[in-house]
Amino acid sequence: MSRVYNYSAGPSMLPLPVLEQAAKEMTDYKGTGMSVMEMSHRSPAYDAIIKEAEATFRRVMKVPDNYKVLFLQGGASTQFAAVPLNLMKTGKADYVVSGEFSGKAFKEAKKYGDVKVIATSENTNFDRIPAFNEADVRPDADYLHVCYNNTIFGTHFNTLPDNGQVDLVCDMSSCIMSEPINVSDFAMIYAGAQKNVGPAGLTIVIIREDLLGNARPETPAMLDYKVMADAGSMYNTPPCYAIYIAGLVFKWVEDLGGVEKMHEINKKKADILYKAIEGTKLFHLHAQPDSRSLMNVTFRTDSPEMDKKFVAAAAERGMVSLAGHRKVGGMRASIYNAMPVEGVEKLAAFIKEFDEKGGEI
Ligand SMILES: *Cc1c(COP(=O)(O)O)cnc(C)c1O
Repeated sequence: MSRVYNYSAGPSMLPLPVLEQAAKEMTDYKGTGMSVMEMSHRSPAYDAIIKEAEATFRRVMKVPDNYKVLFLQGGASTQFAAVPLNLMKTGKADYVVSGEFSGKAFKEAKKYGDVKVIATSENTNFDRIPAFNEADVRPDADYLHVCYNNTIFGTHFNTLPDNGQVDLVCDMSSCIMSEPINVSDFAMIYAGAQKNVGPAGLTIVIIREDLLGNARPETPAMLDYKVMADAGSMYNTPPCYAIYIAGLVFKWVEDLGGVEKMHEINKKKADILYKAIEGTKLFHLHAQPDSRSLMNVTFRTDSPEMDKKFVAAAAERGMVSLAGHRKVGGMRASIYNAMPVEGVEKLAAFIKEFDEKGGEI
């Protein structure tokens, strides 16, 4: 077996023990004589899988009882429409645009009402979380939308958004389960699975119960949180296999010591990488120090040719998918929960070596 260190932003690495367990159970899940992929979603075996996945997630994330957890489809991008369709009661919402995905969320929401950007860091190519406070939020807005971790630019909210009395809605696609958060600080949290949780397609929604039942009449049933909540995420066939894998990942996080332990490891990993890059002559970091992400580390040299050379040389050494997003250029190392410390140490050592040799590798 030869596994690489994969720094892809998503889909991304999954914990090896999870993949191994899935492989073991692939053709015969616990004596059922079938794969989870082949199983009716209404069968007792599957019912146990989805219930356990939700229960584990609730424990690990300490989800309060007055919040629903939904397993939906369509990726985080589908939530860009579902959020305004469900939550815009009076037709007003405020958005912080701190990167690519929050920009897309804003654009989608504009189709449905009076939507305002209250802060953006676009003028510095999203190298930081823009400053704003309660006074910038319209008090009659139905919600304030933020993206907690900006996957493409490598920035993260390192303090809780100051949203005043307005409900806070948060895209946590690329940082969910990477750090402890207080769910009740948020009205709703959503996350695509393919960064920290499991296979692409599955989308997790955590929503406060009093927000259900306000969807606009034209909202497709598949996007109506109340319809999905009433049906236990099984209004239609859910992404069964993705939920099963996510359940194994939740268990893996729990067995490792939960999100607190995960956070400790993630801080250690990010620290190794940021320090290594800061110690070089060739490489520069994109994100400002107070906005740095623990999950996505963005950096570059002064030359796109040198960047390409670095990415290619790293790949030859078993460190793949390090090219940055075209909007930032340079490199991006995504070091989600499943990236082992050794993978970060190996990359840090290579960055140092590349720098010492002036790129003549
Ligand atoms: C990846 C990502 C998305 C988009 O997810 P899809 O599943 O591709 O729709 C949205 N927001 C953030 C923060 C992301 O990292």
